[in-house]
This record gives sequence, C-alpha cells and structure tokens, in this order.
Amino acid sequence: MRVHQAYRFALDPTPVQERALASHAGAARFAWNWGLAACKDRYQAEGRWWSGAELHRQWNAVKKTDPALAWWRENSKCVYQEAFRDLDRALREFVRSRTGARKGRRLGFPRFKKRGRCRDSFRFSTGVMRCSGRAVTLPRLGVIATHESTRKLARRLENGTARILSATVSRTAHRWHVSFTVEVDRNVCGRHAQPGSVVGVDLGVTTMLTAVDNHGTAIEITGPKALRAGLRKLARLSKAHLRTQRGSANRAKAAARLARHHARIANVRTDALHKATTHLATRYETVVIEDLNVTGMLANRRLARAVADQGFRTVRRMLDYKTGWNGGRLLVADRWFPSSKTCSGCGRQKPSLPLSERTYRCHTCGLVLGRDLNAAINLCQLAASGAESLNACGGDVRPGPAGQPPAKQEPGTATSAGQAGTADGQPSAA
Ligand SMILES: [Zn+2]
Repeated sequence: MRVHQAYRFALDPTPVQERALASHAGAARFAWNWGLAACKDRYQAEGRWWSGAELHRQWNAVKKTDPALAWWRENSKCVYQEAFRDLDRALREFVRSRTGARKGRRLGFPRFKKRGRCRDSFRFSTGVMRCSGRAVTLPRLGVIATHESTRKLARRLENGTARILSATVSRTAHRWHVSFTVEVDRNVCGRHAQPGSVVGVDLGVTTMLTAVDNHGTAIEITGPKALRAGLRKLARLSKAHLRTQRGSANRAKAAARLARHHARIANVRTDALHKATTHLATRYETVVIEDLNVTGMLANRRLARAVADQGFRTVRRMLDYKTGWNGGRLLVADRWFPSSKTCSGCGRQKPSLPLSERTYRCHTCGLVLGRDLNAAINLCQLAASGAESLNACGGDVRPGPAGQPPAKQEPGTATSAGQAGTADGQPSAA
C-alpha cells in the first residue's frame, strides 16, 4: 500500500545557512503578498481573482523586467511558485468555507503576511531533496546538518520503499525544521495480529487516555510528567511575558522564551500521543473512540487549555491511519452516544452528568466506577453489541437530532446548522 507520510527533522544550520533560510522564508512571504495584492486588485475590477498558475506566469514576466525585484535570484525559484500555490489553495478553501462545502470553523479571506507576525515557512517540490546520516540536502540551500539522525527515512530511500515528494522548511520558536512529504510503500498486513480484539478509548481531560479492552483490562495513560511540569512553567512564563512593557526588548526576550517553551511542550505531547496510539493500534484490531465536538469544547474557556493539550483531534487522526497500517479499524461512536452517562453495569442512562463528577455512581445497580473507565467500557461494549450507532469514520448511521440525513461529521461541525453557508462551528450545549 502506498501512503503519504511526513518525516520531520530539526535542523542545525550554520549562521550563513540560517540567513539563507530566513531569506527563503522572506521570499515566500513576499510572493504571497504580491499575489494577494494582484488578486485583490483584479477582484475589485472584475469580480474574480488569479489562479496560482496565472500568478506564477505573471511573476516570471515581471521579475525579469522590474529591477526592484532583481533580488529574486538569491532564492530558489521554486519557493515563489509554491507560495502562489498556497495562496490559490487558501482562496479556494475560503470559497468552499463560505458556500458551506468545507466543514468546520468558517475561514476568513486570506490576509497579508507580516514579518515576525506569521509563520516562517517555504516549500520545495522539485530539485534535489535527499537525506543521509545527520544531514539533509535541499535545492539551492545545499547540505544542512540535522539535529537528529535521518536514518529512518534514509533507509527507506536506499531500499527504494520511499520517494520524497516535497520538502517544507519552517521555523518554530528558534528552531528550523524540514518536513518531507514522502510516498511510502508500506507493508500493510491484511489481517490484524490480534483478530477479534476490541478496545474502547475515552479521551479524558485529567488523564490523557483511558482504555478498556474486551477482556476487561484497563489501560490508563496519563500525560508524561514533563508535560504537567511544563504546563506549570508555561503559566509562569506567560505571566512574566504579560508583565513586560509593550514593545520593549524585555518583552521580545520573554516572548522568545515563551515560544521556545510552547514548542517544547508540543513536542513532548506529540511524542506521548504517538506512543499511546501505536500501542493501541498494534494490540487491538478494533479501536472505538467517541466523536467529540472539539470546537464546541474549545469555546468553553475553562476546558479550553486542557482539551487543546490532550489533542483530541490528533489522537483521532493518529488512530485512523495507524489502525489502517496494522490491518485494524477505527470506529467512531456518533456524538449522541451517551458513553459517559450510561451505566456500564446495567445499561441505565442518567439524564445528566456534570463534568465535575469524576466518579460514576449508579443508583440502580450500585456500580461505582471512575467516570473515564465507565465511558471506555461502554465504547468497547458498543463495538461488540453490533454497533447500531457507530460509524467507521464515514457517514453517521443514525440521523442527527433534527432528523437530517446522515452526513459525515467532522469534529467541530455544528449539526444544528442545516443550511449551506451557515455552518459556523457554534458550540453545542456541552
Ligand atoms: Zn447500573
């Protein structure tokens, strides 16, 4: 099976290379802004804008004649072209979002990028892109040392099971990374190593992940200690940042410290989530999770940070492809499946259960169980019960509350918005 996979490596550029990286990022930003201005002009005059290919043609004509643009040669020509493609995609997505074809939060019109106020990033899709040992080779930039070994990808490139399609270079806090989009030939086993195994997974706010399998074994994965300690430090650093004077050198320093720490926490979290999801996907054929209204939960400020931290969306995405690689499947219980409110012992359903109640107490059968554990058992049993309210990442089996036809529910999509163009990701009563 051919899959697209990303391999991301932290770079250790020399000071000269770092300047070249910043220059390329600046070129990408310039091209985006140049293209956006051209599109806005045309839109005002003719009610339509330019495509990415049209922008690229115009740029190629202008860059040779306009002496003010003579600096373009300092950067790879690929970077400009990719920036126009990005702009093209952003404009299309904006239209799709406005007409309701795109699910999720409503997108705004693409905006101009400002140095220091946007993500520094650029992409190559042609030219020499390689990696070996602790170095990568990129068009125009040449060989750049990496902070970590590239062995995982290099081995695949050597034995011909991978092909690099593009390379995106970006800066997070003070570190540059390259992310290769790679077409990988994966050996996907048609059958899972543990046929018939099922696990229900509850994504928690306090514990990162609680799972119960069909033998009743509970797996609890709390976020790593580094993450919890990191969050305390994050609070301290953001307070320090707020206490500095706006526009001062100290504020810039505090902002850099905060950004570096943010990046570190994100790394620790992603690492923990990868480990947890790999563990589940390799051991269980069927993984059942809940469909959570992530946008709705993020709108709830009290929960916002905790939810964002646990990365619900990330977990779902990871489980989706990892179960596929292992010959298993991911099932998503629809959003109205009452996994938390139902008693896993007798099946009785409580009318409501406030989030603050961390223990489930059943008044009918007397069951007392951790809230997350109870929910995970319900999800696991749902798969075994024939699953009338499950969907396999496709359309809902059950119609929504307003009797709408089954439709694919991306996390964070308002179902109450029936008409096209009004899907605005409003938080449902959570
Ligand atoms: Zn009960």
